[in-house]
Amino acid sequence: MHELTLAEDLIQLVENTARREQARGVKTVVVEIGRLSTVEPDALRFAFDEVKRGGLAAEAALRLIDVPGAGLCRACGKTSPMDEIYGTCTHCGSPCLDPVAGQEMRVKEIEIAT
Ligand SMILES: [Zn+2]
Repeated sequence: MHELTLAEDLIQLVENTARREQARGVKTVVVEIGRLSTVEPDALRFAFDEVKRGGLAAEAALRLIDVPGAGLCRACGKTSPMDEIYGTCTHCGSPCLDPVAGQEMRVKEIEIAT
């Protein structure tokens, strides 16, 4: 389960930020998850609740934002929405799409308590 590793990295980043800001705690962590990333939101939520314990972010709520995927068609050069890693171009039907959005997990916001 790689979500555990992701959650550990996430909490480290969050705690480092909170410490740098001399926060008393962390209220909310907002994370964008691309639909083409391999991150399972429920698994990440579960892992986050496990790893946050006892630290500065122990009370933090995790808010996940779903980011739609998009792919650039190699055949016609247009962009199509992608919900899974193997998409089909909505313009010409070509299966050769190179993902250009929605592949990553990104921390968007860390709300700290001061
Ligand atoms: Zn196309």
